[in-house]
Amino acid sequence: MEHIGHLIGGKAVAGDSGETKPVFNPATGEQSGTVALASVGEVDTAVQAGQAAYKEWRSVSIAKKTKLMYTFRDLVDRNSDEIGKRLTAEHGKVLSDSAGEVARGLENIEFACGMAEVLKGSYSENASTGVDVYTVRRPLGVVAGITPFNFPAMIPLWTIPNAIAAGNAFVLKPSERDPSCPMFIAELFHEAGFPDGLLNVVNGDKTAVDALLEHDLVKAISFVGSTPIAKYIYSTAAENGKRVQALGGAKNHMVVLPDADIDLAADAAVSAAYGSAGERCMAISVIVAVGEAADPLVEAIRERTTSLVIGPGTDSASEMGPLITAEHRDRVAGYIGAGADAGATVVVDGRKQRFDGNGFFLGVSLLDNVTTDMSVYTDEIFGPVISVVRVDTFAESMDLIEANRWGNGTAIFTRDGGAARRFQDEVEAGMVGINVPVPVPVGYHSFGGWNDSFFGDTTMYGPEGMRFYTRPKVMTSRWPDPATSSVDLGFPTNT
Ligand code: NAD
Repeated sequence: MEHIGHLIGGKAVAGDSGETKPVFNPATGEQSGTVALASVGEVDTAVQAGQAAYKEWRSVSIAKKTKLMYTFRDLVDRNSDEIGKRLTAEHGKVLSDSAGEVARGLENIEFACGMAEVLKGSYSENASTGVDVYTVRRPLGVVAGITPFNFPAMIPLWTIPNAIAAGNAFVLKPSERDPSCPMFIAELFHEAGFPDGLLNVVNGDKTAVDALLEHDLVKAISFVGSTPIAKYIYSTAAENGKRVQALGGAKNHMVVLPDADIDLAADAAVSAAYGSAGERCMAISVIVAVGEAADPLVEAIRERTTSLVIGPGTDSASEMGPLITAEHRDRVAGYIGAGADAGATVVVDGRKQRFDGNGFFLGVSLLDNVTTDMSVYTDEIFGPVISVVRVDTFAESMDLIEANRWGNGTAIFTRDGGAARRFQDEVEAGMVGINVPVPVPVGYHSFGGWNDSFFGDTTMYGPEGMRFYTRPKVMTSRWPDPATSSVDLGFPTNT
Protein backbone atom coordinates (compact mmCIF):
# COMPACT_ATOMS: atom_id res chain seq x y z
CA MET A 1 0.00 0.00 0.00
CA GLU A 2 1.39 3.39 -0.96
CA HIS A 3 2.26 5.94 1.73
CA ILE A 4 2.14 9.59 0.74
CA GLY A 5 4.24 11.83 2.96
CA HIS A 6 5.39 15.41 2.45
CA LEU A 7 7.88 17.26 0.28
CA ILE A 8 9.86 19.67 2.44
CA GLY A 9 13.02 21.52 1.46
CA GLY A 10 13.27 19.45 -1.73
CA LYS A 11 13.20 16.13 0.14
CA ALA A 12 10.49 13.50 0.40
CA VAL A 13 9.69 12.90 4.07
CA ALA A 14 7.36 10.24 5.42
CA GLY A 15 5.91 12.42 8.19
CA ASP A 16 6.58 12.09 11.91
CA SER A 17 3.26 13.09 13.49
CA GLY A 18 2.11 9.47 13.72
CA GLU A 19 -1.24 10.59 12.25
CA THR A 20 -2.44 9.27 8.88
CA LYS A 21 -5.65 8.97 6.89
CA PRO A 22 -6.66 6.29 4.40
CA VAL A 23 -6.77 7.06 0.67
CA PHE A 24 -9.27 5.11 -1.43
CA ASN A 25 -9.75 4.08 -5.03
CA PRO A 26 -13.37 5.25 -5.43
CA ALA A 27 -13.97 2.87 -8.35
CA THR A 28 -13.28 -0.23 -6.23
CA GLY A 29 -13.97 1.12 -2.76
CA GLU A 30 -10.64 -0.29 -1.64
CA GLN A 31 -8.01 1.53 0.33
CA SER A 32 -5.05 2.23 -1.95
CA GLY A 33 -2.78 4.05 0.47
CA THR A 34 -2.30 6.24 3.49
CA VAL A 35 -1.51 9.91 3.65
CA ALA A 36 0.51 11.51 6.43
CA LEU A 37 -1.10 14.34 8.38
CA ALA A 38 1.47 17.02 9.11
CA SER A 39 2.09 18.27 12.64
CA VAL A 40 2.50 21.96 13.50
CA GLY A 41 6.27 21.37 13.66
CA GLU A 42 6.37 19.86 10.16
CA VAL A 43 4.42 22.81 8.77
CA ASP A 44 6.91 25.14 10.45
CA THR A 45 9.83 23.26 8.86
CA ALA A 46 8.17 23.62 5.44
CA VAL A 47 7.55 27.34 5.94
CA GLN A 48 11.12 27.90 7.14
CA ALA A 49 12.41 26.04 4.06
CA GLY A 50 10.21 28.31 1.94
CA GLN A 51 11.49 31.44 3.67
CA ALA A 52 15.14 30.45 3.07
CA ALA A 53 14.40 29.71 -0.61
CA TYR A 54 12.46 32.98 -1.00
CA LYS A 55 15.40 35.07 0.18
CA GLU A 56 17.42 33.81 -2.79
CA TRP A 57 14.61 33.41 -5.31
CA ARG A 58 13.29 36.98 -5.08
CA SER A 59 16.49 38.22 -6.76
CA VAL A 60 16.62 35.63 -9.56
CA SER A 61 16.37 37.16 -13.03
CA ILE A 62 13.22 37.05 -15.12
CA ALA A 63 15.22 35.25 -17.82
CA LYS A 64 16.18 32.40 -15.50
CA LYS A 65 12.72 32.12 -13.91
CA THR A 66 11.10 32.02 -17.35
CA LYS A 67 13.42 29.28 -18.57
CA LEU A 68 12.63 27.12 -15.53
CA MET A 69 8.90 27.73 -15.97
CA TYR A 70 9.06 26.59 -19.60
CA THR A 71 10.88 23.42 -18.49
CA PHE A 72 8.20 22.77 -15.87
CA ARG A 73 5.50 23.31 -18.49
CA ASP A 74 7.19 20.80 -20.75
CA LEU A 75 7.52 18.21 -17.98
CA VAL A 76 3.85 18.50 -17.00
CA ASP A 77 2.85 18.22 -20.65
CA ARG A 78 5.03 15.16 -21.26
CA ASN A 79 3.75 13.50 -18.07
CA SER A 80 0.11 14.38 -18.58
CA ASP A 81 -0.94 10.74 -19.06
CA GLU A 82 0.77 9.74 -15.81
CA ILE A 83 -0.80 12.68 -13.96
CA GLY A 84 -4.17 11.68 -15.40
CA LYS A 85 -3.78 8.08 -14.24
CA ARG A 86 -2.94 9.12 -10.68
CA LEU A 87 -5.83 11.55 -10.73
CA THR A 88 -8.36 8.96 -11.86
CA ALA A 89 -7.04 6.37 -9.38
CA GLU A 90 -7.78 8.56 -6.35
CA HIS A 91 -10.50 10.92 -7.56
CA GLY A 92 -12.46 8.54 -9.78
CA LYS A 93 -13.17 10.87 -12.73
CA VAL A 94 -12.85 9.28 -16.18
CA LEU A 95 -9.45 9.45 -17.87
CA SER A 96 -10.62 11.84 -20.62
CA ASP A 97 -11.87 14.23 -17.93
CA SER A 98 -8.53 13.93 -16.08
CA ALA A 99 -6.74 14.77 -19.34
CA GLY A 100 -8.95 17.87 -19.70
CA GLU A 101 -8.10 18.90 -16.16
CA VAL A 102 -4.36 18.64 -16.82
CA ALA A 103 -4.76 20.64 -20.04
CA ARG A 104 -6.52 23.44 -18.15
CA GLY A 105 -3.76 23.36 -15.52
CA LEU A 106 -1.14 23.73 -18.24
CA GLU A 107 -2.78 26.98 -19.33
CA ASN A 108 -1.81 28.47 -15.98
CA ILE A 109 1.83 27.47 -16.33
CA GLU A 110 1.79 28.96 -19.83
CA PHE A 111 0.45 32.23 -18.45
CA ALA A 112 3.26 32.30 -15.88
CA CYS A 113 5.79 31.69 -18.68
CA GLY A 114 4.77 35.19 -19.86
CA MET A 115 5.81 36.70 -16.52
CA ALA A 116 8.14 39.21 -18.21
CA GLU A 117 5.15 41.06 -19.63
CA VAL A 118 2.77 40.64 -16.67
CA LEU A 119 5.28 41.72 -14.02
CA LYS A 120 6.33 44.88 -15.84
CA GLY A 121 6.17 47.91 -13.63
CA SER A 122 5.40 51.48 -14.63
CA TYR A 123 7.65 54.50 -15.01
CA SER A 124 6.93 58.23 -14.98
CA GLU A 125 9.88 60.17 -16.23
CA ASN A 126 10.34 63.76 -15.01
CA ALA A 127 7.30 63.64 -12.72
CA SER A 128 8.76 66.73 -11.17
CA THR A 129 11.75 68.47 -12.70
CA GLY A 130 14.57 65.96 -12.66
CA VAL A 131 12.51 63.51 -10.60
CA ASP A 132 11.43 60.09 -11.86
CA VAL A 133 8.78 57.93 -10.19
CA TYR A 134 8.52 54.22 -10.87
CA THR A 135 6.54 51.32 -9.48
CA VAL A 136 7.73 47.72 -9.36
CA ARG A 137 5.85 44.62 -8.20
CA ARG A 138 7.68 42.79 -5.41
CA PRO A 139 6.88 39.33 -4.05
CA LEU A 140 5.25 38.78 -0.67
CA GLY A 141 7.45 36.01 0.77
CA VAL A 142 6.10 32.56 1.66
CA VAL A 143 2.55 32.05 0.41
CA ALA A 144 0.31 29.01 0.93
CA GLY A 145 -2.36 27.18 -1.06
CA ILE A 146 -5.07 24.98 0.46
CA THR A 147 -6.89 23.00 -2.20
CA PRO A 148 -9.99 20.77 -2.57
CA PHE A 149 -10.35 17.17 -3.73
CA ASN A 150 -12.19 17.78 -6.97
CA PHE A 151 -9.34 19.15 -9.13
CA PRO A 152 -6.14 17.83 -7.52
CA ALA A 153 -4.00 18.74 -10.57
CA MET A 154 -5.61 21.90 -11.95
CA ILE A 155 -6.32 23.87 -8.78
CA PRO A 156 -2.78 23.68 -7.36
CA LEU A 157 -1.70 24.94 -10.81
CA TRP A 158 -4.09 27.88 -10.52
CA THR A 159 -1.74 29.29 -7.91
CA ILE A 160 1.78 27.80 -7.85
CA PRO A 161 3.08 29.06 -11.26
CA ASN A 162 2.03 32.68 -10.71
CA ALA A 163 3.24 32.76 -7.10
CA ILE A 164 6.64 31.37 -8.07
CA ALA A 165 6.95 33.58 -11.16
CA ALA A 166 6.30 36.62 -8.98
CA GLY A 167 9.23 35.66 -6.74
CA ASN A 168 7.49 33.94 -3.81
CA ALA A 169 8.02 30.55 -2.18
CA PHE A 170 5.01 28.25 -1.85
CA VAL A 171 3.61 25.77 0.66
CA LEU A 172 0.80 23.60 -0.71
CA LYS A 173 -1.68 21.77 1.53
CA PRO A 174 -3.64 19.58 -0.90
CA SER A 175 -6.82 17.66 -0.17
CA GLU A 176 -6.08 14.61 1.97
CA ARG A 177 -8.53 12.62 -0.18
CA ASP A 178 -6.44 12.53 -3.38
CA PRO A 179 -2.89 13.63 -2.48
CA SER A 180 -0.79 11.64 -5.01
CA CYS A 181 -1.41 13.86 -8.00
CA PRO A 182 -0.30 17.19 -6.45
CA MET A 183 2.74 15.40 -4.97
CA PHE A 184 3.71 14.12 -8.41
CA ILE A 185 3.36 17.62 -9.89
CA ALA A 186 5.61 18.98 -7.12
CA GLU A 187 8.20 16.33 -8.01
CA LEU A 188 8.08 17.50 -11.64
CA PHE A 189 8.57 21.06 -10.41
CA HIS A 190 11.81 20.00 -8.72
CA GLU A 191 12.85 17.97 -11.73
CA ALA A 192 12.51 21.16 -13.78
CA GLY A 193 15.38 22.61 -11.74
CA PHE A 194 13.66 25.00 -9.36
CA PRO A 195 15.61 25.32 -6.08
CA ASP A 196 14.87 23.15 -3.06
CA GLY A 197 12.40 24.65 -0.62
CA LEU A 198 10.71 26.89 -3.19
CA LEU A 199 7.68 24.59 -3.38
CA ASN A 200 6.88 22.49 -0.33
CA VAL A 201 3.95 20.12 0.02
CA VAL A 202 2.51 19.34 3.44
CA ASN A 203 -0.32 16.86 3.53
CA GLY A 204 -2.76 17.05 6.36
CA ASP A 205 -6.04 18.21 7.81
CA LYS A 206 -7.22 21.08 9.99
CA THR A 207 -4.06 20.97 12.13
CA ALA A 208 -1.85 21.68 9.11
CA VAL A 209 -4.25 24.32 7.77
CA ASP A 210 -4.42 26.15 11.09
CA ALA A 211 -0.63 26.05 11.40
CA LEU A 212 -0.39 27.82 8.03
CA LEU A 213 -3.10 30.34 8.94
CA GLU A 214 -1.28 31.23 12.14
CA HIS A 215 2.34 31.21 10.93
CA ASP A 216 3.95 34.66 10.96
CA LEU A 217 6.07 33.96 7.88
CA VAL A 218 3.09 33.00 5.70
CA LYS A 219 2.07 36.21 3.99
CA ALA A 220 -0.86 35.11 1.82
CA ILE A 221 -3.39 32.29 1.66
CA SER A 222 -5.11 31.01 -1.47
CA PHE A 223 -7.97 28.68 -0.59
CA VAL A 224 -10.40 26.73 -2.76
CA GLY A 225 -13.08 24.56 -1.15
CA SER A 226 -16.53 24.63 0.43
CA THR A 227 -18.19 27.86 1.59
CA PRO A 228 -18.15 27.22 5.37
CA ILE A 229 -14.41 26.47 5.30
CA ALA A 230 -13.76 29.38 2.89
CA LYS A 231 -15.42 31.74 5.38
CA TYR A 232 -13.34 30.31 8.22
CA ILE A 233 -10.12 30.64 6.20
CA TYR A 234 -10.96 34.18 5.14
CA SER A 235 -11.65 35.45 8.64
CA THR A 236 -8.83 33.55 10.37
CA ALA A 237 -6.19 34.45 7.79
CA ALA A 238 -7.28 38.10 7.77
CA GLU A 239 -7.23 38.18 11.56
CA ASN A 240 -3.63 36.97 11.37
CA GLY A 241 -2.74 39.80 9.01
CA LYS A 242 -2.53 37.79 5.80
CA ARG A 243 -3.69 38.60 2.31
CA VAL A 244 -6.39 36.06 1.44
CA GLN A 245 -8.43 34.83 -1.49
CA ALA A 246 -10.93 32.13 -0.49
CA LEU A 247 -13.08 30.51 -3.16
CA GLY A 248 -16.16 28.69 -1.89
CA GLY A 249 -19.00 26.47 -3.06
CA ALA A 250 -21.65 27.04 -5.68
CA LYS A 251 -25.11 26.37 -6.99
CA ASN A 252 -24.87 27.22 -10.66
CA HIS A 253 -28.09 28.04 -12.53
CA MET A 254 -28.59 27.47 -16.25
CA VAL A 255 -31.46 29.48 -17.69
CA VAL A 256 -33.14 28.06 -20.78
CA LEU A 257 -35.41 30.47 -22.62
CA PRO A 258 -38.32 29.23 -24.76
CA ASP A 259 -36.51 30.23 -27.98
CA ALA A 260 -33.41 28.13 -27.19
CA ASP A 261 -32.32 25.16 -29.28
CA ILE A 262 -33.62 22.49 -26.89
CA ASP A 263 -31.31 19.73 -28.13
CA LEU A 264 -28.26 21.95 -27.73
CA ALA A 265 -29.41 22.99 -24.23
CA ALA A 266 -30.11 19.38 -23.21
CA ASP A 267 -26.68 18.20 -24.41
CA ALA A 268 -25.07 21.05 -22.50
CA ALA A 269 -27.09 20.40 -19.34
CA VAL A 270 -26.27 16.70 -19.26
CA SER A 271 -22.56 17.32 -19.90
CA ALA A 272 -22.29 20.15 -17.38
CA ALA A 273 -24.33 18.54 -14.62
CA TYR A 274 -23.14 14.93 -14.74
CA GLY A 275 -19.55 15.38 -15.97
CA SER A 276 -17.10 14.43 -13.19
CA ALA A 277 -20.17 13.07 -11.33
CA GLY A 278 -21.27 16.65 -10.63
CA GLU A 279 -18.20 17.22 -8.44
CA ARG A 280 -17.26 20.50 -10.10
CA CYS A 281 -17.69 23.92 -8.57
CA MET A 282 -18.80 25.09 -12.03
CA ALA A 283 -21.19 22.16 -12.59
CA ILE A 284 -24.74 23.08 -13.54
CA SER A 285 -26.96 21.96 -10.66
CA VAL A 286 -30.12 23.99 -11.29
CA ILE A 287 -31.89 24.37 -14.60
CA VAL A 288 -34.29 27.26 -14.74
CA ALA A 289 -36.75 26.35 -17.48
CA VAL A 290 -38.65 29.39 -18.69
CA GLY A 291 -42.22 28.97 -19.95
CA GLU A 292 -42.74 26.40 -22.66
CA ALA A 293 -39.06 25.36 -22.69
CA ALA A 294 -39.71 23.17 -19.64
CA ASP A 295 -41.58 20.09 -20.97
CA PRO A 296 -39.41 19.41 -24.05
CA LEU A 297 -36.21 20.18 -22.10
CA VAL A 298 -36.99 17.79 -19.24
CA GLU A 299 -37.87 15.08 -21.76
CA ALA A 300 -34.69 15.70 -23.80
CA ILE A 301 -32.52 15.46 -20.68
CA ARG A 302 -34.33 12.33 -19.47
CA GLU A 303 -33.86 10.68 -22.81
CA ARG A 304 -30.09 11.40 -22.76
CA THR A 305 -29.70 9.90 -19.28
CA THR A 306 -30.81 6.49 -20.56
CA SER A 307 -27.63 6.00 -22.59
CA LEU A 308 -25.02 7.39 -20.17
CA VAL A 309 -22.28 4.89 -19.33
CA ILE A 310 -21.26 4.98 -15.67
CA GLY A 311 -18.27 2.90 -14.64
CA PRO A 312 -14.63 2.93 -13.56
CA GLY A 313 -12.76 5.99 -14.83
CA THR A 314 -10.07 3.72 -16.28
CA ASP A 315 -12.58 2.08 -18.63
CA SER A 316 -12.54 4.02 -21.90
CA ALA A 317 -16.28 3.39 -22.37
CA SER A 318 -17.17 5.15 -19.09
CA GLU A 319 -18.56 8.67 -19.33
CA MET A 320 -18.98 9.19 -15.59
CA GLY A 321 -17.09 7.65 -12.67
CA PRO A 322 -17.87 7.18 -8.97
CA LEU A 323 -18.18 9.79 -6.24
CA ILE A 324 -15.21 10.55 -4.01
CA THR A 325 -16.22 8.58 -0.88
CA ALA A 326 -19.00 6.26 0.29
CA GLU A 327 -20.17 8.94 2.77
CA HIS A 328 -20.43 11.54 0.04
CA ARG A 329 -22.35 9.14 -2.22
CA ASP A 330 -24.81 8.44 0.60
CA ARG A 331 -25.19 12.14 1.31
CA VAL A 332 -26.01 12.85 -2.35
CA ALA A 333 -28.49 9.94 -2.41
CA GLY A 334 -30.10 11.40 0.72
CA TYR A 335 -30.87 14.62 -1.16
CA ILE A 336 -32.80 12.72 -3.83
CA GLY A 337 -35.02 11.22 -1.12
CA ALA A 338 -35.42 14.60 0.56
CA GLY A 339 -36.42 16.17 -2.78
CA ALA A 340 -39.04 13.47 -3.39
CA ASP A 341 -40.41 13.85 0.16
CA ALA A 342 -40.66 17.61 -0.32
CA GLY A 343 -42.77 17.19 -3.48
CA ALA A 344 -40.27 17.30 -6.36
CA THR A 345 -41.00 14.98 -9.29
CA VAL A 346 -38.20 12.40 -9.52
CA VAL A 347 -37.96 11.89 -13.29
CA VAL A 348 -34.73 9.88 -13.07
CA ASP A 349 -33.70 8.29 -9.75
CA GLY A 350 -29.97 7.53 -9.60
CA ARG A 351 -30.45 5.44 -6.47
CA LYS A 352 -32.16 2.76 -8.52
CA GLN A 353 -29.15 2.03 -10.71
CA ARG A 354 -27.22 -1.02 -9.52
CA PHE A 355 -23.43 -1.39 -9.83
CA ASP A 356 -21.16 -4.39 -9.36
CA GLY A 357 -18.49 -4.26 -6.65
CA ASN A 358 -17.95 -1.84 -3.80
CA GLY A 359 -17.11 1.34 -5.73
CA PHE A 360 -18.73 4.60 -4.66
CA PHE A 361 -21.07 4.75 -7.66
CA LEU A 362 -24.43 6.46 -7.93
CA GLY A 363 -26.60 6.86 -11.01
CA VAL A 364 -27.61 10.28 -12.33
CA SER A 365 -30.80 11.96 -11.12
CA LEU A 366 -33.24 14.45 -12.61
CA LEU A 367 -35.72 16.21 -10.35
CA ASP A 368 -38.47 18.36 -11.85
CA ASN A 369 -40.84 20.88 -10.24
CA VAL A 370 -38.24 21.79 -7.62
CA THR A 371 -39.11 24.82 -5.50
CA THR A 372 -36.72 27.19 -3.79
CA ASP A 373 -37.57 26.01 -0.26
CA MET A 374 -36.41 22.42 -0.92
CA SER A 375 -32.98 21.29 0.32
CA VAL A 376 -32.14 20.06 -3.19
CA TYR A 377 -32.33 23.72 -4.17
CA THR A 378 -30.92 25.47 -1.11
CA ASP A 379 -27.87 23.22 -0.53
CA GLU A 380 -24.81 22.50 -2.63
CA ILE A 381 -25.19 18.77 -3.38
CA PHE A 382 -21.95 18.29 -5.33
CA GLY A 383 -23.18 15.17 -7.09
CA PRO A 384 -24.88 14.06 -10.34
CA VAL A 385 -28.27 15.64 -9.61
CA ILE A 386 -30.16 18.17 -11.75
CA SER A 387 -32.93 20.19 -10.14
CA VAL A 388 -35.36 21.81 -12.60
CA VAL A 389 -37.14 24.94 -11.40
CA ARG A 390 -39.95 26.11 -13.67
CA VAL A 391 -40.66 29.83 -14.02
CA ASP A 392 -42.95 31.79 -16.34
CA THR A 393 -40.70 34.66 -17.39
CA PHE A 394 -37.08 35.61 -18.06
CA ALA A 395 -37.36 38.27 -15.34
CA GLU A 396 -38.30 35.59 -12.79
CA SER A 397 -35.24 33.56 -13.74
CA MET A 398 -33.02 36.59 -13.10
CA ASP A 399 -34.67 37.20 -9.72
CA LEU A 400 -34.10 33.57 -8.78
CA ILE A 401 -30.38 33.82 -9.43
CA GLU A 402 -30.13 37.10 -7.57
CA ALA A 403 -31.87 35.66 -4.52
CA ASN A 404 -29.54 32.66 -4.45
CA ARG A 405 -26.74 33.02 -1.92
CA TRP A 406 -23.97 31.83 -4.22
CA GLY A 407 -22.72 33.40 -7.45
CA ASN A 408 -19.97 31.31 -8.98
CA GLY A 409 -20.97 30.53 -12.58
CA THR A 410 -24.22 30.78 -14.48
CA ALA A 411 -25.34 30.25 -18.07
CA ILE A 412 -28.11 31.25 -20.43
CA PHE A 413 -29.29 29.30 -23.46
CA THR A 414 -31.17 31.40 -25.99
CA ARG A 415 -31.16 32.65 -29.58
CA ASP A 416 -32.14 36.13 -28.40
CA GLY A 417 -29.09 38.42 -28.38
CA GLY A 418 -30.92 41.12 -26.42
CA ALA A 419 -31.84 38.70 -23.63
CA ALA A 420 -28.30 37.35 -23.54
CA ARG A 421 -26.94 40.88 -23.30
CA ARG A 422 -29.26 41.73 -20.43
CA PHE A 423 -28.29 38.50 -18.70
CA GLN A 424 -24.60 39.30 -19.09
CA ASP A 425 -25.06 42.81 -17.70
CA GLU A 426 -27.37 42.13 -14.78
CA VAL A 427 -26.92 38.57 -13.56
CA GLU A 428 -25.42 38.16 -10.07
CA ALA A 429 -22.50 35.81 -10.73
CA GLY A 430 -18.78 36.12 -11.36
CA MET A 431 -18.56 33.92 -14.47
CA VAL A 432 -21.21 33.90 -17.17
CA GLY A 433 -21.77 31.53 -20.09
CA ILE A 434 -23.81 32.47 -23.14
CA ASN A 435 -24.75 29.15 -24.75
CA VAL A 436 -21.70 27.83 -22.84
CA PRO A 437 -22.64 25.76 -19.77
CA VAL A 438 -19.30 25.66 -17.88
CA PRO A 439 -17.72 29.09 -18.40
CA VAL A 440 -14.36 28.47 -16.68
CA PRO A 441 -12.22 31.39 -17.88
CA VAL A 442 -9.06 30.67 -19.88
CA GLY A 443 -5.73 30.96 -18.06
CA TYR A 444 -5.12 34.54 -19.22
CA HIS A 445 -8.34 35.82 -17.65
CA SER A 446 -9.04 35.19 -13.96
CA PHE A 447 -11.35 32.92 -11.97
CA GLY A 448 -13.67 33.87 -9.15
CA GLY A 449 -17.32 33.93 -8.20
CA TRP A 450 -19.43 36.46 -6.32
CA ASN A 451 -21.31 36.47 -3.03
CA ASP A 452 -20.89 33.26 -0.97
CA SER A 453 -18.71 31.72 -3.68
CA PHE A 454 -15.81 34.08 -3.05
CA PHE A 455 -14.26 35.84 -0.07
CA GLY A 456 -11.47 38.30 -0.77
CA ASP A 457 -10.65 41.01 -3.27
CA THR A 458 -8.35 39.57 -5.88
CA THR A 459 -9.56 36.53 -7.82
CA MET A 460 -7.45 33.57 -8.84
CA TYR A 461 -4.99 32.94 -11.71
CA GLY A 462 -4.37 35.10 -14.79
CA PRO A 463 -3.57 38.79 -14.26
CA GLU A 464 -5.57 39.04 -11.00
CA GLY A 465 -3.71 36.03 -9.63
CA MET A 466 -0.35 37.60 -10.41
CA ARG A 467 -1.48 40.80 -8.70
CA PHE A 468 -2.46 38.79 -5.61
CA TYR A 469 1.08 37.49 -5.21
CA THR A 470 2.82 40.86 -5.52
CA ARG A 471 2.87 44.14 -3.66
CA PRO A 472 3.78 47.44 -5.24
CA LYS A 473 6.90 49.35 -4.30
CA VAL A 474 7.13 52.93 -5.57
CA MET A 475 10.47 54.69 -6.02
CA THR A 476 10.91 58.43 -6.32
CA SER A 477 14.38 59.19 -7.58
CA ARG A 478 16.43 62.27 -8.32
CA TRP A 479 19.95 62.52 -9.64
CA PRO A 480 20.46 66.28 -9.35
CA ASP A 481 23.03 68.17 -11.23
CA PRO A 482 25.31 69.41 -8.40
CA ALA A 483 25.34 72.79 -10.08
CA THR A 484 21.60 73.29 -9.33
CA SER A 485 21.58 72.01 -5.72
CA SER A 486 20.28 74.29 -2.94
CA VAL A 487 18.65 74.03 0.51
CA ASP A 488 14.80 74.16 0.51
CA LEU A 489 12.87 73.44 3.76
CA GLY A 490 9.42 73.61 2.10
CA PHE A 491 7.26 70.51 1.50
CA PRO A 492 8.20 68.97 -1.87
CA THR A 493 5.79 70.07 -4.59
CA ASN A 494 5.85 69.11 -8.21
CA THR A 495 7.23 71.76 -10.46
P1 NAD B 1 -13.44 21.26 1.72
O1 NAD B 1 -13.84 22.65 2.06
O2 NAD B 1 -13.95 20.15 2.56
O3 NAD B 1 -11.82 21.12 1.76
C1 NAD B 1 -10.98 22.03 1.10
C2 NAD B 1 -9.64 22.08 1.83
O4 NAD B 1 -9.86 22.57 3.16
C3 NAD B 1 -8.96 20.72 1.97
O5 NAD B 1 -7.58 20.88 1.76
C4 NAD B 1 -9.26 20.32 3.41
O6 NAD B 1 -8.24 19.54 3.97
C5 NAD B 1 -9.36 21.66 4.12
N1 NAD B 1 -10.29 21.63 5.26
C6 NAD B 1 -11.43 20.89 5.36
N2 NAD B 1 -12.03 21.12 6.54
C7 NAD B 1 -11.26 22.03 7.20
C8 NAD B 1 -11.37 22.67 8.47
N3 NAD B 1 -12.39 22.43 9.29
N4 NAD B 1 -10.41 23.56 8.83
C9 NAD B 1 -9.38 23.81 7.99
N5 NAD B 1 -9.23 23.23 6.79
C10 NAD B 1 -10.16 22.35 6.37
O7 NAD B 1 -13.79 21.04 0.18
P2 NAD B 1 -13.74 19.71 -0.68
O8 NAD B 1 -14.83 18.79 -0.22
O9 NAD B 1 -12.36 19.19 -0.75
O10 NAD B 1 -14.09 20.27 -2.13
C11 NAD B 1 -15.41 20.48 -2.58
C12 NAD B 1 -15.87 21.89 -2.33
O11 NAD B 1 -14.97 22.81 -2.95
C13 NAD B 1 -17.21 22.19 -2.94
O12 NAD B 1 -17.95 22.98 -2.06
C14 NAD B 1 -16.88 22.97 -4.21
O13 NAD B 1 -17.90 23.82 -4.69
C15 NAD B 1 -15.71 23.74 -3.75
N6 NAD B 1 -14.88 24.18 -4.87
C16 NAD B 1 -14.92 25.50 -5.21
C17 NAD B 1 -14.20 25.94 -6.29
C18 NAD B 1 -14.23 27.38 -6.70
O14 NAD B 1 -13.44 27.73 -7.55
N7 NAD B 1 -15.07 28.22 -6.15
C19 NAD B 1 -13.42 25.05 -7.03
C20 NAD B 1 -13.39 23.71 -6.65
C21 NAD B 1 -14.14 23.29 -5.55
